[in-house]
Formats: sequence, structure tokens, C-alpha cells
Amino acid sequence: MKKAEIFRRVTVRLTLIHLGLFALASLIVFLLIYISLASALRSRTDTNLSNEVREFESLLNLKGMASLEKEFVNESRSNGIGSWFYLLLSPRLRIIVSSDLHPWKGVRFRPPLIHQLEEGEERITSSPHPGHSHKVRIVFKRVKGGRTLVVGHSLKANDEILKRTGEIFQYGFIAMLLMGGLLGWLVSRHAMSGVQRITDTARRIERGNLSWRVPIGKEGQEIEELAWAFNSMLDRIELLVTDLEEVTNNIAHDLRNPLTRIRGAAENLLSRAPHPAALQEMAGIIVESCDQLLNLINTMLTIAQADSGLSPPSSERIDLEDVVREMVDLFQPAAEDKGILLRIRHPDDIPAGWGDPLSLKRVIANLLDNAIKFSGAGNSITLTTGVEKSRVFLEVKDTGMGIDERDLPHIFDRFYRGDKSRSQPGNGLGLSLALALIRAQGGEITVTSAPGKGSTFRVYLPASS
Ligand code: ADP
Repeated sequence: MKKAEIFRRVTVRLTLIHLGLFALASLIVFLLIYISLASALRSRTDTNLSNEVREFESLLNLKGMASLEKEFVNESRSNGIGSWFYLLLSPRLRIIVSSDLHPWKGVRFRPPLIHQLEEGEERITSSPHPGHSHKVRIVFKRVKGGRTLVVGHSLKANDEILKRTGEIFQYGFIAMLLMGGLLGWLVSRHAMSGVQRITDTARRIERGNLSWRVPIGKEGQEIEELAWAFNSMLDRIELLVTDLEEVTNNIAHDLRNPLTRIRGAAENLLSRAPHPAALQEMAGIIVESCDQLLNLINTMLTIAQADSGLSPPSSERIDLEDVVREMVDLFQPAAEDKGILLRIRHPDDIPAGWGDPLSLKRVIANLLDNAIKFSGAGNSITLTTGVEKSRVFLEVKDTGMGIDERDLPHIFDRFYRGDKSRSQPGNGLGLSLALALIRAQGGEITVTSAPGKGSTFRVYLPASS
């Protein structure tokens, strides 16, 4: 993998972000600790210096110079001559008494600011200690008689504490970086493993097997939701692909019969000397087969157009009684031929419907055609109109063979034909066309059926107000 590609990986980016955040957070924490430690050490030193100088001042006032000198020596011995020094300066800034100043060569005991001090006033400064890396903290206090008490303390111990803290931080910083990197890598790998599974599944599907699904893990809600969404998208695609395959097979099948018949007729014409009667028969077969093909293609196109909603049907007032009477007149002969009783039930107070009358007639014609097709002598078909809430309905009820429970959920699918209806003419598009046309007008079709007892189809349309 190229360098640029590595940095495009979310896992690497998240790890680096974690690393950066841990580094920044530990730097800020260290700086805060360091600054507050340094200031605490400084103020402790200053308090000690002030206390010391005040003690020496009262000793001087109470017991005099000799006791002070003795105390200077004792104190510097017990605290360490390299750590503390004490001295008393005359008004002309000459050393009157002092502790051993041997280790303090080069330290400025008489800075210019001393002259500005009032009696009782004290000032604390830091001063370099030549030859040493650390400084010296010194307090000057103007005491009685224009003299100045000076107490100094080396900052070596403080510097060492700060230095040690810095060293500890260096190790801590490295440990924090390692921890941050490791944690970032673990967290991002855990979160991304769900995404990786989805990618793996997508790749497997790419190789041709649409039945793969993403295993649902426990990486967290978002990843689980993504996996669910991906799986339900796959379910939908698989269903669509299966549907498409089925429709394609059905179309191929339905095209083959008429085409075979046309070809057979043409072959006959070629092989035999054309006799006028045979010619007419062949032409008849060809026209019939072509009609079958055209009918299939036109129905498919009408369904697709109605489903797409691209050219909405006309919307006008429909008098249901007119439709019912026209349809009964049209189908009465076919019903009579089969010995089926066709009747109408139209109450007076049914409002008009709202939709496309031509489409509605086509739908009712399909339903009546089926009702006659799947009923026999002695059965009856009743066309009823009615109103339900803000909708009107037109019902086609037959007492024919009924629909198997197994077939019922599929009868509106394209090309679906019940097992028992295979002997009847048809291509399984009648009901899908009816549903598409009615839905395009804002209506609905429902069906109830019991095998051996008959079927009831109801076509709902909005009522015209
Ligand atoms: P086709 O009538 O061309 O077979 P349809 O889409 O009109 O196709 O109907 C689909 C299937 O629904 C039919 O094959 C049949 O099994 C069933 N069907 C439809 N109407 C009825 C009915 N009135 N009685 C019994 N079965 C029916």
C-alpha cells in the first residue's frame, strides 16, 4: 500500500487523531502542573526568607549585634553554608557581620535598589550565582539605624525538583503517546470492523452472489443500523432482480407461442403450393398471433406508464350507473353463452365517482372477463355499486371457482396465473393492469375469495364532492 493510501484509511486517521489529542492533553496538563509547582516553590521560598529576616531583626533589636553574629554562624551551619547566607550591611553598605560567604562569590549583596528602601520595608529579588546554573533568592530588609539585613537562599533544590518533574513528564509523555495510539487503534479498529464487514459483503455480491448478507455485530448502534439498512436494501434488490427475471422469462414465454405460430404458418406457405383457402387460414393465424403480441406489448406499456405516474389519467365525474349498465350490456352475451346470470345492484343514493371513465371501464371489463372465465353454468355475477366514507366502490362478485389461498397474495403480480386457470386463455396481466390503472387515479382494488364459492373484487375510487 502506498504512503498516501495509508493515510486515507479511517483507522489510521483515527489513531493519529487520538495520538495528537493525547499528546496535546498531556502537554497542557504538564504545563499547568509545572507552572503551579514552580510558583508554589517560589512562594514557599519567599515566605521562608521573610520569616528568617524578621527573626534576625527581632534578635538584633532585642539582643544586639553579638548575638546576631552568633546566630548567623549557627543558622548557616545547621542549614548548610552553601544553601543559606546571612549578612548585615551598614548604612554605607559595608558588611558589618555575616555568615561564611565563601561559597557565594560573585553574588551581588548590594543591588542599587537597597537605597530606595524605607525602614521596615523589605524586597525580594533573584540574582545569578556565577559559576552555577541556578539562581539565588535574596531578601533585603531595611532595619533600625539605616542598616540592611540580607538573607539569601540558593534555588538549587527548587530547580532540581522542577528538573525531576520534567524528566518524569518525559517518560509519562511517551507512555501517554503509546497508550493514546494503542487506544485509538483499538477503538477505530473495533468501530471500523462493522464497515469492513459491509465492504466484504459488497465485494462478495460483486462476484455474483446476491444472497450474501452482512452479519450484525456489536460495534454500536450506528454501525448496526448501517448493516440493517444495507441488508434490507439487498433484500429489496434481490426481490427486484428475481421479479425482473420472472417477468423476463414470462415475456419470453408469451412471445414464443405467437411467434412459433407465425413461423409455422410462414413455413407451411413456403413448402406447399399456396391454395387460396390455405392462404386465408395462414393469414388468419398470422393476424391473430400478431394481435396477441401487440396486446401483450401494449398491456405491458400501459402498466409501466400508469405505474410511472408520468402521464396522469384524466379526472372527471363518473356516473357509476352508466358504467355498470354499459358493461353489463357488453358482457351479457358472453355470460348468457356460458349460462351465467349477470345482474346489477345499484342503490339510488350513490354519489358519482372521480377518475378516468375509460380506465375504469377497462378495469371492470377485465374483472367481468375473469368472472365469466372462472365461473360456469348456473353461477351468477353481481355488479354492485356502493359508498364507503369518502369513496365510492364498484363490486364484481361471482359464485365461480374462487381463488386458492396460495394464489390469493399473488394474483395482482405481473404474469401470475393460478394453477387451475392454466387451461383458460390469458397472460396473467389483467389484474396487474387493473391495479395500476386504478392506483393511478388514487383508487384501490381489494379481493376476497373462497375456493369453490366464488370471488369478490372491489374497485374503490374517490367520490366526487
Ligand atoms: P389471467 O386472467 O390472464 O390469468 P389475471 O391477472 O386477470 O390473469 O388474473 C390472475 C389470476 O387470478 C388468474 O390466473 C386466476 O388464477 C386468478 N383470478 C382472477 N380473477 C379470478 C376470478 N374471478 N375467479 C377465480 N380466479 C381468478
